[in-house]
Amino acid sequence: MRAAQLTAPETIELAEVAEPKATEGLAVLESEIMGVCGTDVKVLRGTIPVSMPRIMGHELVGRVVATPDPDVIPEGTRVLVDPSLACGTCHQCLHRRPHLCSRGGLMGREIDGVFAELVAVDPARLLPMPESIEDREAGLIQVLGTCVHGLRTVDVFPGDVAVVLGLGVAGQLMVQLLSQRGATVIGITRSEEKRQLAARHGATAVAAPGDAEEVIGDLTSGIGPSLVVEAVGTEATLSQAIEWAGTAADVVLFGTLTGGQKGLPYYQLYYKELTLWNPRAALLEDYARAIQLVGDGLLDVGEIVTDVVPLDEIEEAFRLVDDPASLKVLVDPNDGP
Ligand SMILES: [Zn+2]
Ligand SMILES: [Zn+2]
Repeated sequence: MRAAQLTAPETIELAEVAEPKATEGLAVLESEIMGVCGTDVKVLRGTIPVSMPRIMGHELVGRVVATPDPDVIPEGTRVLVDPSLACGTCHQCLHRRPHLCSRGGLMGREIDGVFAELVAVDPARLLPMPESIEDREAGLIQVLGTCVHGLRTVDVFPGDVAVVLGLGVAGQLMVQLLSQRGATVIGITRSEEKRQLAARHGATAVAAPGDAEEVIGDLTSGIGPSLVVEAVGTEATLSQAIEWAGTAADVVLFGTLTGGQKGLPYYQLYYKELTLWNPRAALLEDYARAIQLVGDGLLDVGEIVTDVVPLDEIEEAFRLVDDPASLKVLVDPNDGP
């Protein structure tokens, strides 16, 4: 079968590899649609080191073609993969935080991933996905699960004002989730197109960064928002989020910050008694909720997908992920020659 392997830093190659078998209690899936995300880019660049060759990728919707237990997961079931690995016995796992497992990992990083025609997965990490969800939306649901998880800790009541800073894939999904909760959502980004997309899908107001302060002031009567979601992942935008936050607000740092920082507006964190959250990964129930939200038509995520690329053109998929004009990039293994 074909699989996209990292063979050296910066080198992803389509290779012919052995098909996985339904042994050791694993189910085998035929891949239907995959997503490429920032973590995959970091693995490709070598910023996140992995052993090689490594089949990349962790976002997959597939169909069960071989099962260790038809009562648990029958053949033919369409499924979403929870790509996190957990040991089940460490302190975090025992305290119902398997997504923070101290011996955990991620498919496509610590073990082979999903950019392959067939993938073997523990049935406990599979969630049935309704046939009614089209591939384009299905390919976004793993990311949506992490966004659901990222908002679990914050209280949002109808009429609360929430600011989402950064309207990439996660920011767009956050806008929709917060709007579903009844918040008045203000979406902030430089991109006119991304502002328009957010405005079509739940944002009450959108603004370029330079106009944000005025829009936020108007919509909150100068009080400031009770929630700011940072969905960019830079220290400058996190600082901005802290500065925009109202007193006693929650700030969710959803972008990933990785060292080399200069410092945050600590006095504001203190003076406004802010709560800063930095959620990571997701739990099975977050993925189940993500499937439900899209399946029930409460969210409309298809437009967030800008590109669907055949598996043979995986390099092009990675190039598109880096393109600021692109949003979600999916890979279709059944497309192409
Ligand atoms: Zn991802
Ligand atoms: Zn564990």
